[in-house]
Amino acid sequence: MLPKKTRIGAVIGNRCPRCFEGKLFKSKAYDLAQMSKMNPRCKVCKEDFEREPGFYFGAAYISYALTVALWIALLVALTCLNWWGVLSFEFFDDVPFFLGSGIVLLLSTVPLFLRLSRSIWLHMLTKRRSS
Ligand SMILES: [Zn+2]
Repeated sequence: MLPKKTRIGAVIGNRCPRCFEGKLFKSKAYDLAQMSKMNPRCKVCKEDFEREPGFYFGAAYISYALTVALWIALLVALTCLNWWGVLSFEFFDDVPFFLGSGIVLLLSTVPLFLRLSRSIWLHMLTKRRSS
């Protein structure tokens, strides 16, 4: 587990960008009906998580970057598995396999990427309170 008192630990753990302790989201990531519901403010330091209407629109750019990184990581992983003889994979011969496994991987990480992109966006635009 990452320490919650560091910026990276708070970003990955979906914690408040000011105090690094309060939770950003109301429920667990894979509670699909509630996965995007955020707490209106930090329960520890009262930092406002609902800045303005459309504030989290910018998180879509973060989500896009994460998605591209996921596809590249999948391609690298499949290529490495091919090199090590674990799996037979040639990109131009196995496009349906690559797309299928990428789509399954992407759909299974939607809740994590949604939360991580919002967390990164909020942390990018908030300074930590000096105490
Ligand atoms: Zn806080």
